[in-house]
Amino acid sequence: MRFELPKLAWEANALEPAISSRTIEFHHGKHHQAYVNNLNSLIEGTDFENMGLEDIIRKSEGAIFNNAAQVWNHTFYFNCFTPGGNGLPSEDLLDAIHKNWDSFDRFKKEFSAAAVSVFGSGWAWLVKDKEGNLSIVKESNAGTPVVKGLEPLLVFDVWEHAYYLDYQNRRADYVEALWNIVDWEAVSSRY
Ligand code: MN
Repeated sequence: MRFELPKLAWEANALEPAISSRTIEFHHGKHHQAYVNNLNSLIEGTDFENMGLEDIIRKSEGAIFNNAAQVWNHTFYFNCFTPGGNGLPSEDLLDAIHKNWDSFDRFKKEFSAAAVSVFGSGWAWLVKDKEGNLSIVKESNAGTPVVKGLEPLLVFDVWEHAYYLDYQNRRADYVEALWNIVDWEAVSSRY
C-alpha cells in the first residue's frame, strides 16, 4: 500500500454536535479510505507510482487526479477542526481578514454563502496567494487550490456525504455548525 489513510487527531465523536461520530466514521473510514484505495490501485505500474501526492495532483487528470485531489482535500479538511473549536485567528490573520472583509463576522458570512452556494458537490476554501492576499474560492467535485499556486488555510467540504446523515438537505445548518469547531490555531499557522 503506497498511500495510507491519515489517522484523525481526535475521536470520531469529538466534533459532536457539529458532526456526529456516524458521519465521521463514514466520511473518514469509508469515503476518505476509498479515495486512498482507488488512488493506490490506479497508480500501480504507472509513472505516478513513485511521486508525492502533490506532484500527482499537479500532473494527472481524470480518475487519478480526482482520487489524489480527494485524498489531499480530505486530509486537509479533517485538519481544520478540533473539538469545541479554539479561539480566534491570530492577530496577523485577523488583520488580513479585516482588511478584506471589514470584520470577522462579515468574512464568516461570505465564506458561508460561498459554501452554501457551491452547486452540487464541492468545497469552499480560504486561500492565500503568493503576495499573501486572502480570498474565498469555490471548487467543484475534487477541485483543489493546490494546482493553482494558492495556499489553502481553511476548507469546508460541502459534498452531501459530509453532512447528509446529520443534516439531510440543510447544508446551511451544517456550514453554520462548522464555525463552532474550526481549529483557528491550525488555520493561523498556515498564514
Ligand atoms: Mn468529503
